[in-house]
Amino acid sequence: MPDFRTDALVVGAGAVGLACARALALRRQQVVVLEAADAIGQGVSSRNSEVLHAGIYYPTGSLKARLCVAGNALIREYLTGRGIALNPCGKLVVATSVDEVPKLEALHAQAKANDVPQVEWITGAQARVLEPALRAEAAMLCGTSAVFDSHGYMLGMRGDIEDAGGSIALRTPFERASRDPDGFVVQCGGAEPVSIGCRLLVLAAGLGAQAVASGVEGFPAALIPQRHLAKGSYFALQGKAPFARLIYPLPVHGSLGTHYRRDIGGVARFGPDIEWVEGEDYGVDPARKPQFVEAIRRFWPDVNEDALVPDYAGIRPKIHGPGEPQPDFSIQFEGSHGLGGLAALFGIESPGLTSSMAIGAYVADGLLGTKG
Ligand SMILES: Cc1cc2nc3c(=O)[nH]c(=O)nc-3n(C[C@H](O)[C@H](O)[C@H](O)COP(=O)(O)OP(=O)(O)OC[C@H]3O[C@@H](n4cnc5c(N)ncnc54)[C@H](O)[C@@H]3O)c2cc1C
Repeated sequence: MPDFRTDALVVGAGAVGLACARALALRRQQVVVLEAADAIGQGVSSRNSEVLHAGIYYPTGSLKARLCVAGNALIREYLTGRGIALNPCGKLVVATSVDEVPKLEALHAQAKANDVPQVEWITGAQARVLEPALRAEAAMLCGTSAVFDSHGYMLGMRGDIEDAGGSIALRTPFERASRDPDGFVVQCGGAEPVSIGCRLLVLAAGLGAQAVASGVEGFPAALIPQRHLAKGSYFALQGKAPFARLIYPLPVHGSLGTHYRRDIGGVARFGPDIEWVEGEDYGVDPARKPQFVEAIRRFWPDVNEDALVPDYAGIRPKIHGPGEPQPDFSIQFEGSHGLGGLAALFGIESPGLTSSMAIGAYVADGLLGTKG
């Protein structure tokens, strides 16, 4: 017998777990969120670009494309309604040479196929009217791309969960789950180990997704995708921010490319780059600076490399290795793993933050049978 029961238990209090818990709580489920760390939003959700993506990059019809476009609109409305900081600055994706124009054209076609609103092709001259310091042969203006306060967003969702009668248990790691006739019994560790019975179980553990799924009794090992870690480092610019909009080069394999943003506090940052790693080390190697300078100079020739300082790093929870095709988000329900009441999420890398609120609705609807 578990120590107590709840309707739904969510593992992980990052943006995605909180959004799933909020969506379930708003659908009248009693929700408990388990978080191993001592605060919400300390995982991948605290080490990213805080960009609301438009949805231009992903294959049409994929979860990434659909949930990113939907999530962008949902989060934008949520932030505006709550007075949480949002800078609707828009973004320029640039072809920095004639050679890159066909790639930008393909991306523009992809954006159109994905029904991304407010996407406009502009010439290099038009781009320089918007951003005089920019080097661009041509550019795509994405009006719905934005920068926002992701921690304010997560705090807002925490408040919604608690207002709806749910709770968040910090310093409470998931250890394992077994089946019982009413659903699952989850064993939690920490200073006061407890067992919780639940009808619905959501695994949204970010970098811990594989470890958590392997602790669920009956979860088919063959359905747990291999974990790959791709680190992304950032450098900050000391001094005045050179552009008002987000500036992105063309994407490279596994990453959207080392881009520019002026964050919500006005600091100019460049990154993330991509480095395949074995462990979770968040140090930024100053020796990566020459590669940053080279990447930045392509779209901002005037960059002063002495003003660039190592900043922070994040790690992408990937489910593909270097050179392998980039898969969609993996969100598994009973139809794939056979365990009724379970949603297991893997590979929630970018645009996971943007998609989070739409992922929450998708998971809640999938578990409660209201859709899909
Ligand atoms: C460098 C970088 C830049 C990015 N930029 C963007 C961007 O600009 N826009 C965008 O949309 N997306 C971006 N992303 C992706 C985005 O950050 C992630 O998709 C998103 O934050 C994932 O949220 P999550 O809740 O799934 O994971 P997390 O935030 O990592 O949350 C998972 C939580 O689970 C907890 N946990 C793990 N194991 C256990 C356990 N056993 N028991 C209890 N709790 C556990 C962890 O402590 C963690 O808090 C970026 C990612 C990276 C790495």
